[in-house]
Amino acid sequence: MIRLEGLHDRIAIIGGGIAGLVAALELAPQPVVLITRAGLGQECSSAWAQGGIAAAFGADDDPARHLADTLRAGDGLCDATVASGILSEAADAIAVLERYGVRFDRAQDGTFALAREAAHSRRRILHIGGDRTGTEIMSALTRAVQHCPSITCLSGVEARRLVTADGCVVGVHLQAMGQAAVFRTAQVIMATGGCGGVFDASTNPSGNFGQGLAMAARAGAALRDMEFVQFHPTALDAAQAPLALISEAVRGECAILIDQTGKRFMEHIADAELAPRDVVARAVHQVIASGGRAFLDARTAPGAGFAKRFPSIQALCATRGIDPARDPIPVRPAAHYHMGGIAVDQTGRSTLPGFWAIGECAATGLHGANRLASNSLLEAVVMARRAANDVANSKMRARAFVPNPAALPDPDPRSVRPMMSLHLGVVRHRAGLRQMISNLLPQVQFCGPASDPALVALAIAVFAEKRRASCGGHYRSDFPDPAINARSNRMNLTEILSHASSVDQEPQLRTA
Ligand SMILES: Cc1cc2nc3c(=O)[nH]c(=O)nc-3n(C[C@H](O)[C@H](O)[C@H](O)COP(=O)(O)OP(=O)(O)OC[C@H]3O[C@@H](n4cnc5c(N)ncnc54)[C@H](O)[C@@H]3O)c2cc1C
Repeated sequence: MIRLEGLHDRIAIIGGGIAGLVAALELAPQPVVLITRAGLGQECSSAWAQGGIAAAFGADDDPARHLADTLRAGDGLCDATVASGILSEAADAIAVLERYGVRFDRAQDGTFALAREAAHSRRRILHIGGDRTGTEIMSALTRAVQHCPSITCLSGVEARRLVTADGCVVGVHLQAMGQAAVFRTAQVIMATGGCGGVFDASTNPSGNFGQGLAMAARAGAALRDMEFVQFHPTALDAAQAPLALISEAVRGECAILIDQTGKRFMEHIADAELAPRDVVARAVHQVIASGGRAFLDARTAPGAGFAKRFPSIQALCATRGIDPARDPIPVRPAAHYHMGGIAVDQTGRSTLPGFWAIGECAATGLHGANRLASNSLLEAVVMARRAANDVANSKMRARAFVPNPAALPDPDPRSVRPMMSLHLGVVRHRAGLRQMISNLLPQVQFCGPASDPALVALAIAVFAEKRRASCGGHYRSDFPDPAINARSNRMNLTEILSHASSVDQEPQLRTA
């Protein structure tokens, strides 16, 4: 039973990760309803972050250098103005987290302890307890939310649809235990995180397949750059879902990548193991696609210091009988982060009135075609603050009474996942994309358990089909050349379906 008495017309925040929690806290004392499928801090990528949060605090660093690294990783697709604005608010974002009780690791002189990650030209990753950053941030934020009287949490409740009238948001269709109810509100902040759960091999919580993207698209909001999925090169290669992550910070501490013969395979590539993630992921993919295996070799560095610097990864490896100081760690690429998402402006506003999106489900333009490691937690905090401020200053009353709807079938991405990993993984090709589009279209149009995951998958496939060039996380083996003058793309659901139908009707697909 979903109890909504006395709550209608409050601001709704959907998602209990870092973005949702910071937005709720920053809106205080305005009353908000925080809706999470799992409990606070549960089933969210935020709690799993190992590396940390990027901020230019080093004596040899500044936001301009951080921006230059971000733009380089983004492969020409970042919005430089947006990126500059977000990165220049990093120190404020860290101060806000500290205000909510987050305590970052410090060096002996009291300054922040800074780690280095791939494609960062400086040490600029703040962390907590070595590799426990996400867990510790979410514990502190959860405590702050629990002590904040203006926040009402609806845990175990899933948002399934945005309800609209006259082109504006007027409510959210919620479901729990097979029952449905509409929460009436004219202000919704989406913070549902990434879409890794739509892939077979992913580091994200399996239940998060991009529900926010499906809701946004169905309500008419534009999606942006959906093809750009970042594949982490070093997920622990084990038979489990989701795959556990071996943080990039391990390569930052000089661990190297070797194949099954012990040969180092990144040596001759610019920046070697610290090249941008898409470059490293393709190299690891190549080794595995040619029948080999890839390993992260931390035996020489960090070597004996591994357990102290990376206690969680040490414990994780121990469950598989691996001691990183003595054994190479088997790794493979896995869907890890979504650069694309709900198209938003610099305050988190989407193209749909009354609807904001923040965190990983949103696409601001910061990451371009490839996220620079540890910029995502930073973006989530900065955009949560901005959206909270914008929502607080744009009062809207709910306009319509909306009757409670019938319950929708529980979403199930299992039928979609194998196709995604096969055709929309590290390497993509026209034939596979077209086959996917053809398979997914009927699933999207039929209201069954697969229709929401199929919609997310279809949107990624359509954007990927349209971008006939290789760029950042999007690599087409049929168009391997880098994109010239690459541009960001936006499409709404009507445009996505129309492009999908035209691809589906192409004669070569029928004969394929
Ligand atoms: C293993 C791992 C390690 C990472 N390490 C780092 C790192 O070191 N540094 C960094 O910057 N980034 C890192 N990232 C990325 C970063 O963690 C995420 O981008 C960020 O945490 C996303 O925050 P979020 O609040 O947008 O989403 P999440 O933290 O994923 O939270 C999403 C929330 O939405 C809820 N939800 C989803 N759908 C619904 C629905 N329909 N109804 C109600 N609730 C819903 C979920 O239950 C969850 O509470 C990592 C990601 C992973 C997976």
